[in-house]
Amino acid sequence: MTCRDCNKNIGYLAHKESMDSLGVELCSRHTRLIKKVILNHGTSLEAVQLFYALKEAGANPMLEWWDGKKSVDIAISRVKLNIEIDTEYKMITHEQAIKDLEEAMHSFKNGFTTIKIPHVVVKYYLQDTVKNILGIIEGLKENIKVIK
Ligand SMILES: [Zn+2]
Repeated sequence: MTCRDCNKNIGYLAHKESMDSLGVELCSRHTRLIKKVILNHGTSLEAVQLFYALKEAGANPMLEWWDGKKSVDIAISRVKLNIEIDTEYKMITHEQAIKDLEEAMHSFKNGFTTIKIPHVVVKYYLQDTVKNILGIIEGLKENIKVIK
């Protein structure tokens, strides 16, 4: 059993603790670090699980990246892709909808692409989610090449 962050060998207890609390295999140091991130930002477990799945796929993700205004759940900085995990089911209000649209406008103006993924998709279709995000990264890379 190895830590999915630092590849350190971990024992049964560290494995059990990280799997029970985060659903990701981590050493006790990285379990502590991630729990601190969750405490500070209210990060969802799905964001943590997707972060490690993307890391394994070689996407170089960053967890809780500060974009200057707010913390983004997961960012892929080299293609300016921001990924937000939606954890709320309730109907969107019109105030929220216009706020979302304004946010989308600002991030597009700054060259960022933001995608919102419902947490249940990460929970039930983690590998498909990763595959699609990798496809988006490829597409963004191509677009950057075309512009430059
Ligand atoms: Zn570790």
